[in-house]
Amino acid sequence: MAVAMARSFEYKIKQPWELRSREEIRDLQWKKLEKQIDYNYSRSPFYRELMDGAGIKPQDVRSWEDFQQIPTWNKDVQRQIQTKGAEEYGDPFYYVGCAGRDKFLRFSSTSGTTGVPTLYTLTKSDIAVMNELFARKFKIIGLKPGDIVAHGKSLSMFTGGVPAVMALIDYGVGVVPVGADAGSRRLLEYTRLAKANVLWCTPSLSEYMIERCPELLGIPAKDLGIEIIIGGGEQGPGIPSLKERIETSYGARLFDNIGSSHPFHGVSCPDGVYRGMHWVSEDYCILELLDLETKKPIPLTDGAIGEKVFTYLDWEGTPLMRYALGDVFQIFSEPCPCGVNSPRFKIIGRADDMLIVKGVNIYPSAIKNSLVNFAPAVTGYFKIVLDAPGPRVTPPLCLEVEHGPDCCSADLPGLAEKIVKTMKDAHRVSPKITWLPPNSIERSSHKQKVIEIRKPGQ
Ligand SMILES: [Zn+2]
Repeated sequence: MAVAMARSFEYKIKQPWELRSREEIRDLQWKKLEKQIDYNYSRSPFYRELMDGAGIKPQDVRSWEDFQQIPTWNKDVQRQIQTKGAEEYGDPFYYVGCAGRDKFLRFSSTSGTTGVPTLYTLTKSDIAVMNELFARKFKIIGLKPGDIVAHGKSLSMFTGGVPAVMALIDYGVGVVPVGADAGSRRLLEYTRLAKANVLWCTPSLSEYMIERCPELLGIPAKDLGIEIIIGGGEQGPGIPSLKERIETSYGARLFDNIGSSHPFHGVSCPDGVYRGMHWVSEDYCILELLDLETKKPIPLTDGAIGEKVFTYLDWEGTPLMRYALGDVFQIFSEPCPCGVNSPRFKIIGRADDMLIVKGVNIYPSAIKNSLVNFAPAVTGYFKIVLDAPGPRVTPPLCLEVEHGPDCCSADLPGLAEKIVKTMKDAHRVSPKITWLPPNSIERSSHKQKVIEIRKPGQ
């Protein structure tokens, strides 16, 4: 039986990047931005056209306000110029692949989206930056030589895949690249064989393996000797009941983590309290937030919520500039008690999914977070039924929610009342709940579509 190892997560030694003042960071970003705009304009036909179209030359950009006059763009535009480049020049990277084909060493793409994937290119220098950003997170997590990571995310170009494995090796810890495709049995077997003490997989896989471990290995997950679980890529570490279940079952600390195909990296607090993720890459990425309705930039004050727009700095391959991914973020600038000196952020949802009920903004992800706290009385599957497309919803907000298999019909009215109260307290929205039997909502391995436009009950 593995002996539970006591591990300290106290975060004492500051990393050099944390020691800069807000002014120093802003100055450094500005210096890098001026260089990056010149680089982007001179090497990318797309950026030239974008800036010329707005009547802006690189030398005109003298202030942050000037910079914000450059139009934002997004994945749809990237998809179009990727296709256009391939068709017109035989080169999908013609428009924004600034470094040139002979310099591209790694290609990345983001998962979870519909339509033709968009590819990002990384040069040797970009990969070194990416390794540095991963290292900053590994230091916060407390990884050290002698740790062995059982890696169970898809070993692909996606977030947390091959780039993470390369960064772990570069950092100097052991990695067993099992991959998600090998299945939970293999991941558990290799974890035990290698005596891995760190598990890197989605929170849902780590949750699933709590039940699989006794069946497959004959031991509880706690006896695997896992001290750290690195999650990310989905909700989980931010859901208190789920975080507690995973951490107690393994006797480990669960970290949230973002960043792999872009230089926007973050990791949750080492003291184990979930307060969003610390942004560790301010010197390689500029973050802006846009007002969700006016789409105008808003100040990054404590608690501000807006659509994330980012700009890469010191970047050669595909240097995205004022690029909107459609994610809605909330930023926290107050000092954090965990000891890490950087702003934090929470991912609120997708801009396209936002609903407005009586002037209150709400996202399907927030509803899901409230619901899963009631598991196993609910399965966590639900639909939002609107009689007309959003974002504005005429109250009440109608939810169809699956109850759990062991929930009897006499319990349902009381359960609905509790859920409505929780959502009213947390989100200032009182939904109308209609119950569905378990497994009546179709399960999908892709992102579940939760909003449906129809009359409730039809
Ligand atoms: Zn913190």
